[in-house]
Amino acid sequence: NLSEKLDKALHVLKGHGQITEINVAETLKEVRRALLDADVNFKTAKEFTNNVKEKALGQNVLTTLQPGQLMVKLVKDELVELMGGDAEGIDLSGDPSVILMSGLQGSGKTTFSGKLANYLKTKKDKKPLLVACDVYRPAAIDQLHIVGDKIGVEVYSDRENNDPVAISKAGVAHAKSQGLNVVIIDTAGRLAVDKQMMDEIANIHRAIQPQETLFVVDAMTGQDAVNTAKTFNETLDFDGVILTKLDGDTRGGAAISIKSVVNKPIKFIGTGEKMDAIDVFHPDRMADRILGMGDVVSLVERAQEQFDEEEARKIQKKIAKNKFGFDDFLSQIQQIKKMGSIKDLMGMIPGAGKALKGLDVDDDAFKHIEAIIHSMTPDERSNPNKLDSSRKKRIAKGSGRTIQDVNQLLKQFDQMSKMMKMMQGGGGKKMMQMMQG
Ligand code: GDP
Ligand code: MG
Repeated sequence: NLSEKLDKALHVLKGHGQITEINVAETLKEVRRALLDADVNFKTAKEFTNNVKEKALGQNVLTTLQPGQLMVKLVKDELVELMGGDAEGIDLSGDPSVILMSGLQGSGKTTFSGKLANYLKTKKDKKPLLVACDVYRPAAIDQLHIVGDKIGVEVYSDRENNDPVAISKAGVAHAKSQGLNVVIIDTAGRLAVDKQMMDEIANIHRAIQPQETLFVVDAMTGQDAVNTAKTFNETLDFDGVILTKLDGDTRGGAAISIKSVVNKPIKFIGTGEKMDAIDVFHPDRMADRILGMGDVVSLVERAQEQFDEEEARKIQKKIAKNKFGFDDFLSQIQQIKKMGSIKDLMGMIPGAGKALKGLDVDDDAFKHIEAIIHSMTPDERSNPNKLDSSRKKRIAKGSGRTIQDVNQLLKQFDQMSKMMKMMQGGGGKKMMQMMQG
């Protein structure tokens, strides 16, 4: 699903202490692909990633302490914007206010009609009436009555009449005569978009001129949801979207797609079958949900937990005293390995992570490095400058690597030591931060 794909895209960044421009571009390419896969149209997806990129470069993501997290935040902010900024309410200014439900059969219109009535009932001065305009199945009228009984809201129906336009008008008239000020009209849907359904809902719409026309859609239907939304919008020019069945694992990629295709606000979400399973739509919460924010943040946290601060302080002291040796290097490698996926976590470890970053690091690479270090004597590990060519030859032989491999490791170690010395010049705290990426 979209969330997993975005996770994957952001994954590229999460493990990196430092992010390069190439890195940002790569990640955003993945983000764009994920959006396209979720039926967000090409133009929107492109704009989305361009905006994030601009902001990322503008905010100097590349030089911040937590670039991965900042990128996640930028992507999240942009998602929020894409889904419509602040939550929008519904227009209840009419007397009565008429709210028309539209959508396919099974999308949750009847259920949501009840939820909305129940929700409005608790608001001061709001007296709702439910009107049953699904005349094709007797059970549909029964269903709305059951809902009405449950929540203590009157239901207007007329089993003798099979004209939904007439019933809806009569329903509004009934509300007026009874002093009820919100009329919620539940309509019939069909399993797929067809002309008869579209004509019928358009006729009701024309006849009663609702303040709010809501399009109800099942969040789990993906691609279909987008197409259906488009068709209903072309006919009804509806005011808002209700996203149902967002309980359980459904993560709500549909919210982005629909919003980006029809450009209408999502107003409420349905999160279960019960009458109180209704929530005002909050784009930022939905963005969290889509991003699976918990997962993203937890990876970063895991890395930071495992990173042994005590160890880091010891190393810091050694660097200060010019005593950072291969044993320390080895212990850092072991720390990296403790954390699991090496590539993800590269760069979060002081010293070793950065030094190895240029390499295509995998478990084998670590094995080779470890083998070389293990072939050194303790004295050599502490004093790498003692390594002359005969010692190198011995170490290469002992570790089953080539002289070149040994030289390469020594060179990297040397560069790393220099880099650490340099960072040390900027003060301990600063170095710690840089080490932690
Ligand atoms: P309608 O044909 O559009 O009127 O759809 P219904 O209101 O009859 O709902 C169809 C089915 O979806 C019913 O079994 C509802 O209980 C269920 N349903 C509706 N909304 C939700 C929701 O938010 N979450 C879950 N899990 N089920 C829902
Ligand atoms: Mg229904």
